[in-house]
Amino acid sequence: PRVLGIESTCDETAAAIVQGRELISNVVASSMQEHARYGGVIPEIASRAHAQSFIPVVEQALHDAHLTLDDIDAIAVSAGPGLAGCLAVGVSGAKALALAANKPLYGINHVIGHIAVTQLQFGAFPERTMALIVSGGHTSLLEVHDIARDVRVKGTTLDDAAGECFDKVARLLGFPYPGGPYIDRHARLGDPHALRVPQGLTQGRAGAEHPFDFSFSGVKTAVARWVEQETAQGHEIPVDDVCASLAYSVADVLAKKAITACVDADVYTLVVGGGFSANSQLRAALQQYGERHGIEVRLPELKLCTDNGAMVAQLGVNLIEAGCAPSPLDCPIDSAMPLDQVYMQ
Ligand code: ATP
Ligand code: MG
Ligand code: FE
Repeated sequence: PRVLGIESTCDETAAAIVQGRELISNVVASSMQEHARYGGVIPEIASRAHAQSFIPVVEQALHDAHLTLDDIDAIAVSAGPGLAGCLAVGVSGAKALALAANKPLYGINHVIGHIAVTQLQFGAFPERTMALIVSGGHTSLLEVHDIARDVRVKGTTLDDAAGECFDKVARLLGFPYPGGPYIDRHARLGDPHALRVPQGLTQGRAGAEHPFDFSFSGVKTAVARWVEQETAQGHEIPVDDVCASLAYSVADVLAKKAITACVDADVYTLVVGGGFSANSQLRAALQQYGERHGIEVRLPELKLCTDNGAMVAQLGVNLIEAGCAPSPLDCPIDSAMPLDQVYMQ
C-alpha cells in the first residue's frame, strides 16, 4: 500500500509518502527557529505555523512523488501524543483530505511511528523486537510483538526524558534550544570521566511495575549543582568535559538497560527511535553493547530520527497490511496517547 503520512505533534509540520517499505517523498517544515529565542516550544506559535504550512507541505510531498491524492491508498496522521493545538491542526487537515478524496484515515501514535520508521532501512520487524524510544518527550522500552496490534511497555522514565535532560543542561551551559545536538558536539571533545554524573535507577526499582524504568531528573540536578559549586569557587566551567560526562552517563545507562532487556527477554533485535537516537554517544554505546551480546541494533539514519512524515506513513502501511479498520472521521486527538495504543480505533 501507498500511504500519505502527516505529522504535526510539536514544531515540525511534515508530510511523506511511503509505499511498502520505500520512502517516495519526505518534506519537513519546522518552526524551531521561531521558538529558539524563548528557550522552548511555544504551543500557540507552533499551532499557527502548522496552520500555515499544512497545505504547502502536503502539496510538496505529492509533487515530489509525482502523485495526486487519487494515487494514495490511505492517509495517516499523528493523533497523539503531543501538543493539543498542534495535533488538532494536523488531524483536522488530514480528516478534510480523507473526506474530500474519499480515502481511509488512520490516526496513529507518533511514538510508535518513531520505531516503525526503521523498517524503511531494515525491512519488517522480526517476530519479537525490543524498541528503545528516546526523544524530547519520551524515554521508554517497548516489546513489539506486532507493530500494528501488540506493543507492550517494559519501562519508561519516571521523570524527565533523555532529550529533555540534555536540553535542560544545555540551557544551563548557555546553548540555544534545543541544546541536545550542542551537547553531542561538545561531548566529542571532552573527558567522559571528568565528573561523576549519576545514572539514576541503574538497577530498576524494587517492586516497580516495569523492570526497566529510567530516571533523569537527578542527572540534571547533579550537573547543575556541580556547575554552581565550580562557579562559586571561581573556576572556569570545562564545558566539553561537562558535556562528555553527561553524555557518557546517559548513553551508558540507556544502552545497558536496552540491551539487558533484550537479553532477558531472549530478543535479538533492538530498534531505536526518536530525536535523541541521533545522539552519537548513544549510537556508539548501543553498537558496542549490542555487538558484545549478539543483539542487532537498528538505528534510523539521522534525518529520520527527529519528527517527520515518513514514520507516520510507515505505521499507516503496517496498519493496512495487518487489516486494521481505519479510524472514524470523528476520532479524537489525545495529547497523552498511551504507548500501547498504536492508533485511534
Ligand atoms: P516526542 O517524540 O516524545 O513527542 P519530540 O517529538 O519533541 O518528542 P523529537 O523531535 O523526537 O522529540 O526529538 C527532539 C529531541 O531530540 C530534543 O530534546 C533534542 O535535543 C534531541 N536531540 C536531537 N539530536 C540530538 C543529539 N544529537 N544529541 C542529543 N539529543 C538530540
Ligand atoms: Mg521537533
Ligand atoms: Fe517525536
